[in-house]
Amino acid sequence: MNRKIPGKIAIKKKRPKSSGAGEQVMIMKKLFAPKTSSKGIVTGKVFVRKEADLKPSQEKITEEQTGAEMDRFFSAKKKVKEDLAVLAEDNDIFGAHLLIADDSALESGVLSRIREKHRNAEFALAETTEELAGIFEMMDDAYMKERGADVRDVGKRLMAELKGIRPDDFSEIREPVILVARDLFPSDTAKLDLNKIKAFITQEGGITSHVSIMAKGLGLPALVGVSGILDEVNTGDMLCMDALTGEIIVDPDDRTIAEYEKKQKEYETYRSTVRASGSLPAETVDGRRVTVCANTGSVEEVRAAAENHADGIGLFRSEFLYMDGSCFPSEEEQFEAYSRAAKLCPRELTVRTLDIGGDKELPYFDFGEEENPFLGWRAIRISLDMKEMFCEQLRAILRASVCGKIRIMFPLIVSVEELREARELLKQCKRELEREQISFDREIQTGVMMETPAAVMMAEELAKEADFFSIGTNDLTQYLLAADRGNKKISSIYNSFHPAVLRAIAHIIHAGHAAGIPVGMCGEFAGDPRAAELLLGMGLDEFSVSSGSMADVRYAIRSLSYEAAQKKAEAVRKCRTVEEVMEVLNSVPDMSETHSCSSNAVHLAD
Ligand code: PEP
Ligand code: MG
Repeated sequence: MNRKIPGKIAIKKKRPKSSGAGEQVMIMKKLFAPKTSSKGIVTGKVFVRKEADLKPSQEKITEEQTGAEMDRFFSAKKKVKEDLAVLAEDNDIFGAHLLIADDSALESGVLSRIREKHRNAEFALAETTEELAGIFEMMDDAYMKERGADVRDVGKRLMAELKGIRPDDFSEIREPVILVARDLFPSDTAKLDLNKIKAFITQEGGITSHVSIMAKGLGLPALVGVSGILDEVNTGDMLCMDALTGEIIVDPDDRTIAEYEKKQKEYETYRSTVRASGSLPAETVDGRRVTVCANTGSVEEVRAAAENHADGIGLFRSEFLYMDGSCFPSEEEQFEAYSRAAKLCPRELTVRTLDIGGDKELPYFDFGEEENPFLGWRAIRISLDMKEMFCEQLRAILRASVCGKIRIMFPLIVSVEELREARELLKQCKRELEREQISFDREIQTGVMMETPAAVMMAEELAKEADFFSIGTNDLTQYLLAADRGNKKISSIYNSFHPAVLRAIAHIIHAGHAAGIPVGMCGEFAGDPRAAELLLGMGLDEFSVSSGSMADVRYAIRSLSYEAAQKKAEAVRKCRTVEEVMEVLNSVPDMSETHSCSSNAVHLAD
């Protein structure tokens, strides 16, 4: 039996091709990726990317040499910025990298190390990159952690330039292969020739890295963060990878190859059915229609979501505008981003006001020491304390609201007073804009992100004063279960299928509907295929999920019966344990009562 241990290797005896005395028993190795990145099933030969030596040389320089070292850094920076500006024309990710390359913290870190510590440019750069990336990597939020990888990417580009190493163009690859590398730059991903690359696996990186995001965008199966992969494979080895389950088989036997090829065909048939129905509405077999929107963190992601038939943007994480630069973005910069996003957005763009603090730090802003940052100064609390900054954001959103339909959503609300205060400030901004004769949408809607136990308890009252609710299960789960969402030790406690979380969700939906307002969900739970039927049955109106999951959620909903889903939700309401919940969710519906319940829903749950 092979036990699944993330990133660890299990050994399986390879079946001999024919039995016979003295025959050699070969070894077939299995690895598991801790989490899947971009889905797909592939069999093929491996190409291992050779690593360029980007280790910094460590030299002590003299006072006289500091000027020359600084000049070397400046010319490397100039070249890197030129390269990134070209790449940024096609992809906003490189626009973000350009901002990092131009960041004053990066430059001053390198220069002060050269000047004051007499480090050479390479070593000064390595130390500075390490320090800045470390700030992001200390954060608990997976997305923010991965921004550390972006800093490292830019650091590597600068280092390659300083050392005179040209980036790899993969020209040695002659036939379609599975590319294996320690890590890939987003710019590497942009260069991949899809006729020659079937999939890729990296030893480092996480599922929210930009490389993962780009792989999803290209539809390229990918597994990232597979520890030990570089020790296990060589160029030319055969490999089967299942980027649905995270399973990798090195040196598979013929039977395994045949098995994988069959699975691949089945998956491709499923995908083409999903794709073909991609633009169809998310409507159940008995006519209940919901919307399937996207969660996005940049204008580029809004564009991708629109191309993937999003019904709207259920969550535009505005904080990323604040994280890319070296100071708070101006009203003008924000207006520019929100209006571009609003123009690209099909139907409504839900802009969440600044949600920093907790695990989301800003490199240029001191939050002060806190014993419990997740229970501390974060999200709407900061906005209400820093009114000037908050109003700049509200004015920018209001001004952009004439470029497309925009809604405003306030994060981490715990009281009616907070909602009132935020709405009062919005009114003030509206009055200012009127005086300045600047147009905006006077009917702009304001909603509450339902992500705290207090908001659940006050749902009826909040519903009377809000235009919509969106359930943030990522935080709601951690606060209800008193389980830090980023703490691996207690990850088994952090479970949105806990009956307490499910009851809270049901309560919010009920309270919202009783007051006549729509209720959506933008936490990760909305994209969990095991939860689709339950949430539908509870009456959720809007599923806001990552761009790549939208087609699956829509497809699952199209094959479900609302009536049967309501029955499941009712049965789940009585469950006392997670196990009981899962039993109900996995139970096969009574076909006589539930119309034709889907084979694709089953496929998703697999
Ligand atoms: C949530 O809490 O569910 C959510 C969507 O917000 P974030 O993950 O940004 O805290
Ligand atoms: Mg949240």
